[in-house]
Amino acid sequence: MKDSDNLVKEILKLKQQRKAVILAHNYQPGEIQDIADFVGDSLGLSQNAAKTDAEVIVFCGVHFMAETAYILSPHKVVLLPDVNAGCPMADMITAEKLRERKRELPGAAVVCYINSSAEVKAESDICCTSANALRIVESLDAEEILFVPDQYLGHYVSTHTDKKMHLWPGYCPTHMKILPEHITGLKQRNSMAKAVVHPECRPDVIAVADEALSTGGMVRYAGRDDVSQMIVGTEIGIMHRLEKENPGKEFIPASKRAVCPNMKLITLEKILWSLEEMPPGVKVPEETRLKAKATVDKMLQVT
Ligand code: SF4
Repeated sequence: MKDSDNLVKEILKLKQQRKAVILAHNYQPGEIQDIADFVGDSLGLSQNAAKTDAEVIVFCGVHFMAETAYILSPHKVVLLPDVNAGCPMADMITAEKLRERKRELPGAAVVCYINSSAEVKAESDICCTSANALRIVESLDAEEILFVPDQYLGHYVSTHTDKKMHLWPGYCPTHMKILPEHITGLKQRNSMAKAVVHPECRPDVIAVADEALSTGGMVRYAGRDDVSQMIVGTEIGIMHRLEKENPGKEFIPASKRAVCPNMKLITLEKILWSLEEMPPGVKVPEETRLKAKATVDKMLQVT
């Protein structure tokens, strides 16, 4: 096996030859974040890649994220360095099951979290992110909402709106590993620390935290002058970025077990192999892509 310096050199050389851009989700291992052109959340990364003249996108993340990049950049090749990197939460719903539920709730507007397949987005009325979910729900004329697939993000929104929310019973197994006692115990031992958790966490975790924020929101919060110590309630990959961008501040993971095994399937070797072999990449049938893009575009008109 090549050492990581050589791997990085070869990746960067091939990246230029292939006219590629490398995207790393906030939950990726640190060494992958360090070689990426952009580090961020799935929508922001896909939007950034769409603005470049790169011909190839290497998406270091999971499958629905690569689909989102393709939805916005159908003329670029979108490589997912490990095609087995899926998202268990996104897989907790299918387009067929969603169609069945829609028949049961004909008056409800369907809001889908961006953590969903292109097919599910295509069956939805509008998309949302963890940062704008409440704003999106409030923007709709409908008084009844079917929120898919994350019940916890949906529940968080339901506590801030008068609309009737029907929640799909999906969840993120990684965020489920964060428990309220992790937050309360760490707060007792670190009295200056602010506890910031992701809205994919369980309601009893959000209840004992100081803030519930998206990963982008956490990055901004960490940069505030009044924050010197922060308990971080999300996938631990974000620790790398928080520590790198905020030297001198202390970041404490709410749970070291909050590791997404799918995110960690991406390695430097696999990035190099994907650029060497140039497989066909992640694609979405055009009819589905256009419908899915319409739900993303509707969201962008609101925010
Ligand atoms: S952290 Fe959770 S929501 Fe994100 S990719 Fe992993 S399983 Fe899916």
